[in-house]
Amino acid sequence: MANKIKIQFPDGSKKSFDKGVKAIDIAKDISEGLARAVLAAEVNNKLVDMNTKIEENSIINFVKFNSKAGWDTFQHSAAHVLAQAILRLYPKAKLTIGPTIEEGFYYDIDMPPIKQEDLGKIEKEMQKVVDENLAVSRHVVSQKKALEMFKNNKYKVEMIKDLFSNKVTGTQKTKSSVVPKSEKITYYEQGEFKDLCRGPHVSNTGAIKSFKLLQTSSAYWRGDAKKESLQRIYGVAFPDKKELKKHLFMLQEAKKRDHNKLGRELEYFTTSEVVGKGLPLLMPKGAIVKRILQRFIEDEEEKRGYVPTITPVLTKSDLYKISGHLDHYRESMFVFETNGEEMCLRPMTCPHQFMIYKFKKRSYRELPIRYSEVSELFRNETSGELHGLIRVRQFTLSDAHIICRPDQLEKEFEDVLHLVEYVMDCLGIKEQVWYRFSKGDLSKPDKYIDNPKAWKQSEATLKKIIDKLGVKYVEEEDEAAFYGPKLDVQMKNVYGKEDTLFTIQIDFALPEKFDMTYTDEKSNSVRPMIIHRASIGCLERTMALLIEHYAGKMPLWVSPIQARILTVSEKFTKYGQEVKDKMRAAGLRVELDDRTESIGKKIRDAQLEKINYMLVVGEREVKDKTVTARNFFNKVLGAKKVDSFIKDLVKEVDEKRIPKE
Ligand SMILES: [Zn+2]
Ligand SMILES: [Zn+2]
Repeated sequence: MANKIKIQFPDGSKKSFDKGVKAIDIAKDISEGLARAVLAAEVNNKLVDMNTKIEENSIINFVKFNSKAGWDTFQHSAAHVLAQAILRLYPKAKLTIGPTIEEGFYYDIDMPPIKQEDLGKIEKEMQKVVDENLAVSRHVVSQKKALEMFKNNKYKVEMIKDLFSNKVTGTQKTKSSVVPKSEKITYYEQGEFKDLCRGPHVSNTGAIKSFKLLQTSSAYWRGDAKKESLQRIYGVAFPDKKELKKHLFMLQEAKKRDHNKLGRELEYFTTSEVVGKGLPLLMPKGAIVKRILQRFIEDEEEKRGYVPTITPVLTKSDLYKISGHLDHYRESMFVFETNGEEMCLRPMTCPHQFMIYKFKKRSYRELPIRYSEVSELFRNETSGELHGLIRVRQFTLSDAHIICRPDQLEKEFEDVLHLVEYVMDCLGIKEQVWYRFSKGDLSKPDKYIDNPKAWKQSEATLKKIIDKLGVKYVEEEDEAAFYGPKLDVQMKNVYGKEDTLFTIQIDFALPEKFDMTYTDEKSNSVRPMIIHRASIGCLERTMALLIEHYAGKMPLWVSPIQARILTVSEKFTKYGQEVKDKMRAAGLRVELDDRTESIGKKIRDAQLEKINYMLVVGEREVKDKTVTARNFFNKVLGAKKVDSFIKDLVKEVDEKRIPKE
């Protein structure tokens, strides 16, 4: 039996095969259909190609398109097809990196700028590569051989050298991405095309049945603006045409809701080259919504026992040496020197509020202290990360820090959770979110405070609390703040990209770093605990997700223009003005459209602007003291007495009602 091995399947069943059997033959042994559908295999938890020979007893798990690993394998294989087509069309182009992303794949290439119009030509060449159905093979070589093979591509040469020098490639500066020196290099080959790659890949190019190049943009080598400018080509691929069609339709629909498009069209915000990337300018509508969210959360927090602080955005970097930000977070900060001093634009509010706590001796009787501040924060995101109002360089966070005794931690955490739930209720997004328990990764001391005991303790405490509260959550490693684990409220944007909306964190580390204490009942000086939390998140991001969720048709209470009065002709301007004044006096945000346009045009314009209520005034309305109302779902509500209609709207605002068609 020496030349037989045992293969175990996910359901626990086992079967023996010849030693050296290929993964694909095991799949075929089960069924031809399975063999056609599998893209790669996990053999003893290691992702491999289907042509991989298996030499020992193993546990096998087949990877199909509908899993994360399957998606990645397929998209990355499509990226290789793109790269091959590019080299055929542009022989002088230099390939750099071509990773998989949630939305598909891209490849960064050093080549002359390409335009959207060029994509069709590239797709045609890709189709040829697919039609040729080239076998895809994996090869292992030494560093010397690899350097020789790729000597005409300085980017690949740099990557090969990095791999062997223990220097980390890309933007990830974490310990675990360092490859051990002894590892050899693998490359993949299909036809005349070779690319440095870890794999796995589909077995032949014919598997990439259906694909589409979506857009081009520029990017910098290693994301560094001082380095070479590259062309980035985005695409997505599917195993069949129907799936691709469905996906492209979804993208088209998503685009209509995309806040980065709709938010600009509706004049919530704009950007300007001279102001800079990632620094959106909120126009009156955006500013109104942001102010409403801010006033709402400030009032709500005051009711719940928070006290405000106002602290500076500009701070000496010394403060962040204490907090550890400079050690763990520096590359995301704006740090600069002026008058011989190193200064920062603050990335977080915590250290400032801790200074307020520390300004005098505290007693156990004073705790908990709940400091809140809607504060402007800064984050030096790379330009590739920036996106509309969601990823920006300056944003406004509804931040707070609850400093409490250990015996108060659970109750305080629960209260924060209730506040967050209330906020989601008011915004009408409770069904769209899920919770994520974000843990640290202690193998990355650069990224997280190196205090395993505190980490263990805080993760266990957080888990105990959320389990007790019955919170349903997913666990994820390597997503914590650098000083502690957190419970994140996650939501997807229109394209399905996940973002953190709100967050609650337990912190055992910073009280020590800042030497924060209070005097307990026995007159001992002891450390407090801290909850960092954001209740309504970043105001700009929350606004963006509301625009997308409601496709611009905002709940009345957050809507920038709640009603517009439309005059049938100039004869009714005076009455329209009276109605407007009355509504304004009741606290409603209302406009008057007394242009000499037709009423049909005025209604259309108001609908395009997604104004909640359109109120037509003419002869009959003047006589009856009414308005004829319709809403943004194009539902005609008919004649309404002005006074009672105002009361209805005020009630709708007070109840924070969610619009329903
Ligand atoms: Zn590759
Ligand atoms: Zn904080």
